[in-house]
Amino acid sequence: RGRVMLQVRVALIDTEHVVVLAEDRTEARRVEAIRRDFAVNVSHELKTPVGAIALLAETMQDAAEDPDAVRHFAGRMQQESTRLAALVHEIIELSRLQVAGALQEVEVIEIDRVVDEAADRARVVAQAKDITLTVGGERGLRVFGDHSLLVTAVRNLLDNAVAYSGPHTRVGLGVSTVDDLVEIAVVDQGIGIDAAQQDRIFERFYRVDPARSRDTGGTGLGLSIVKHVAADHGGDVRIWSEPGRGSTFTLRIPAAREDGEPQMDPMKEV
Ligand code: ADP
Repeated sequence: RGRVMLQVRVALIDTEHVVVLAEDRTEARRVEAIRRDFAVNVSHELKTPVGAIALLAETMQDAAEDPDAVRHFAGRMQQESTRLAALVHEIIELSRLQVAGALQEVEVIEIDRVVDEAADRARVVAQAKDITLTVGGERGLRVFGDHSLLVTAVRNLLDNAVAYSGPHTRVGLGVSTVDDLVEIAVVDQGIGIDAAQQDRIFERFYRVDPARSRDTGGTGLGLSIVKHVAADHGGDVRIWSEPGRGSTFTLRIPAAREDGEPQMDPMKEV
């Protein structure tokens, strides 16, 4: 931490001349370390559902004579496989985003289409819990970016809002402009997150309550995907929350100006 890693190469030209090449490897080392940690986390996270499926298959064999038990274990296996598929999907998505330049095809994006698409998909889950999902605010705003990545980010925020809220509550999505930024705010009346955890939830695989997150089918990757998508678009994601009262997540992306170039920060965080 704070140390600079230099890779030094020395070439002897003749008895009186040497060439010294020094390359700063600090950033490369940091990226390598992040990759290594990610790989360790990934294998750990994959072991849980794979182990569960193996165990369920074994139990099912033992219960082969009992059709009700077989049905029960088959259902559980299906749940675990769905979870595993979601996890693999998010791991692939996140590793794509961790590679600089994930945002290849930048175009003008209509925020209305992004929020409508994300809300339509999240509404199905919301309805099952009798949660009312409303979309409001400014229309006609635009940003530069990638449509499907933005839908994924907004969808993750909405899915969380629904997952961490009780039945018969409300989830609202509001679009507005703040200075030169388009702000998408997702507000819920759910369990909230205490101040000490608020920074950590954006870390990969971090969950406040692993048991609860598991019940909701959470992978612990949703918010780190949101963070990457925000950074790739030159924006950010923030949270305001109070335990027991609810949370508000804001995703801010520089607005596309009619005339201008995309205002994006080429330096991205890994
Ligand atoms: P997960 O797949 O577990 O939901 P995320 O990265 O999306 O993973 O979120 C990380 C953790 O942050 C969650 O496990 C949960 O504890 C907390 N969290 C995220 N969104 C909310 C929310 N709207 N209300 C309360 N807690 C939340």
